[in-house]
Amino acid sequence: MTSTTLELLQKYSVPGPRYTSYPTAPYFHTGFGEADWAEALTAPAPDRGLSLYAHIPFCDSLCYYCGCNMVATRDYSKTQPYLVALEHEMARTAQLVDSNRVAHQLHWGGGTPTYLNPDDIRRLMAMMRKYFTLAPDAEISCEVDPRELTFEHLAALREVGFNRLSFGVQDMDPNVQQAVNRIQSEFLIRQVLDWSRELGFSSINLDLIVGLPKQTVDSFRRTLERVSMWAPDRLAVFSYAHVPWLKKHQNLINEAELPDSATRFGLQQAVNEMLGAAGYVNIGLDHFARPEDELVCAQQNKTLWRNFQGYTTHKDSDILAFGVSSISQTADVYMQNDKNLKRYQDRVAETGLAVERGYKLTRDDQIRRDAITRVMCDLELDYTAFGREWNIAFTDYFADALADLRPLADDGLVNIAPDRISVTPAGRLFLRNIGMCFDRYLKEAACEQPRYSRTA
Ligand code: SF4
Repeated sequence: MTSTTLELLQKYSVPGPRYTSYPTAPYFHTGFGEADWAEALTAPAPDRGLSLYAHIPFCDSLCYYCGCNMVATRDYSKTQPYLVALEHEMARTAQLVDSNRVAHQLHWGGGTPTYLNPDDIRRLMAMMRKYFTLAPDAEISCEVDPRELTFEHLAALREVGFNRLSFGVQDMDPNVQQAVNRIQSEFLIRQVLDWSRELGFSSINLDLIVGLPKQTVDSFRRTLERVSMWAPDRLAVFSYAHVPWLKKHQNLINEAELPDSATRFGLQQAVNEMLGAAGYVNIGLDHFARPEDELVCAQQNKTLWRNFQGYTTHKDSDILAFGVSSISQTADVYMQNDKNLKRYQDRVAETGLAVERGYKLTRDDQIRRDAITRVMCDLELDYTAFGREWNIAFTDYFADALADLRPLADDGLVNIAPDRISVTPAGRLFLRNIGMCFDRYLKEAACEQPRYSRTA
């Protein structure tokens, strides 16, 4: 690494949002209630499809780095009242949403969706199909933990229509696995990948994490070598967010073992270099896909979008998310369910919904969200096209953002031309910092900002 790059890294490694939403989740508020959510669900949206999400919070054991809303338990009976609550929530939501609307995407996340046994996998999908219409060519995907997984789980997923899987691999080094309490052998991963291919899943994603304790550039290069050999269709390489003030169990991680910023940068460089050499294209922040993948095509066509599930080709879909802590989204509303399992179940039993907080976007929010998303997806922003779409004079409207971008331009992270902003190859590592220049809330609340993870 050159000293200039290290300097940039140190300069721009600041707490900042990942922009899976704008405004970001800390700005959702409890003044938004069930009546507001019901109004959002009943609002006519003839041109918008649906994207369905179910959150299964249960896990067999706790990974110390975990940032999800999860419940580590060996007591399977806890799933039963939860499935009942999910059905109530879907039934109530379906009463409010136009029944002609079709879902083009369905995703199960967690926790560990495959904590459910094969019969309950069938039961949950039957519920979703009972209340909502799925397009025949819908993308139906599930997050899978390779540990404790059987062939029967995967066969049940395939039988009920899943066509995409996403496996949590994270890191294959035994020392790292031990430091984060997630032990999974190479044999295990190969076996579940072989099963998935045998069953005919059309797309397989692997998740990796950089920034875990005891990771070194050499050890992670070995993980990347193996992963390239397994040839998944997509890879998501997340940056570990160490936020023990939000996730108390992250205190189980020995901070002294976390890689320093130079190592983190080396890890990121190894990712870009080795996945690039293996034929993957980097999609924005943390996703990689084969050149023929629809995410790559969407990026080229400027139709890529970013939401709570990462990068997606379904920009004009409303996300209906079911389950504890899950976040739904319409064109101008975010809504998050109660984050406590018991309260979620009690509230759904009472009213069919469990709204904890939400946010209705103003027009300015929508404009800024679009600008941040365009930068993070397209890696450029054309003033004329953007201004036409929102009926604004771009350089006037975003005079503050352009001024804030100037130092980043001086450091070679963005080019500011008379008609557009574009992210340079060096700037791709700093997309979050670039997005932050458009964030009105960061500017307004400089003294009392929510505490985010670091950007680099
Ligand atoms: S399996 Fe996933 S959700 Fe469960 S503890 Fe590990 S990282 Fe968290």
